[in-house]
Amino acid sequence: MNKYDVLGVVGEGAYGVVLKCKNKDTNEVVAIKKFKESEEDEVVRKTTLREVKILRIMRHENIVQLKEAFRRKGKLYLVFEFVEKSMLDILEANPNGVDTETVRVLTCQLARAIEYCHRHDVIHRDIKPENLLINPADNALRLCDFGFARTMSADTPLTDYVATRWYRAPELLLGSTHYGKDVDIWAVGCIMGELTDGQPLFAGESEVDQLFVIQKVLGPLTPEHMEMFLRNPRFLGIQFPDVSRPETLEKRYLRRMPKLQMQLLKGILVMEPRRRLSAREMLRMPWFEAVQGLGCRV
Ligand code: ADP
Repeated sequence: MNKYDVLGVVGEGAYGVVLKCKNKDTNEVVAIKKFKESEEDEVVRKTTLREVKILRIMRHENIVQLKEAFRRKGKLYLVFEFVEKSMLDILEANPNGVDTETVRVLTCQLARAIEYCHRHDVIHRDIKPENLLINPADNALRLCDFGFARTMSADTPLTDYVATRWYRAPELLLGSTHYGKDVDIWAVGCIMGELTDGQPLFAGESEVDQLFVIQKVLGPLTPEHMEMFLRNPRFLGIQFPDVSRPETLEKRYLRRMPKLQMQLLKGILVMEPRRRLSAREMLRMPWFEAVQGLGCRV
């Protein structure tokens, strides 16, 4: 660590802290994720090693770049390029949403980052505004925080999942252990909506409320999902109010979304995971055809 000057703390969590630092030799500003002691705790050790292993293979202009990783006195340090803001800051500064062109350029970059992850069989699993770093000068977006990411290995149930509720796909809320890449796609839809009018699209107050607010807009769960709901002891005795006349996405974003954007959103926010667009298909949607700048053309 002695080759860096610490400029401040930019993030803090259960894992440790993220520090803004300057490389004394090169003057380069970096973000250093410093983990708490990890040597003793086997579970923590395993998850941090997984994060590093995944970060090392990720090389894409829309994914935050790991510059180096080292261990000092039993603690793990990850050094990243520093990015000034996150989508959370953008949303806070624009409580009524951002203009359509900005939604398009940000969504397109997010889709590219996810397409790259999925092509390498990595599911991010925690896509949300805090984890989308943005350089305000040119709106360049970088996906960060692979702390929850998993590589797909056939038929291993994926159980260790706890992530932010508002961006969680219905199958995750229902406790599925055989979900897939489609969970990342769902989050893209939620983010597109939130950027458009500044409001989280599905702001549930609990897990069961989350499932309810999704159905209020999109209509009832699929029969398969309803069966999972009824079988899950966590939801025992709970019934949803009538959702047979949903608000619909068209009504929710009336006059706020161009037709082609709505076409994409409707391809993403599909209850049935297998029927959601893939990242590759998203990138081929007509809405992205005219996207300006940032190498975002597909
Ligand atoms: P956590 O595992 O707690 O979610 P993150 O990797 O998401 O850790 O980092 C926590 C916070 O630190 C982020 O939400 C962001 O605000 C900040 N941060 C992380 N990486 C960078 C970076 N490369 N540049 C600037 N800020 C960063």
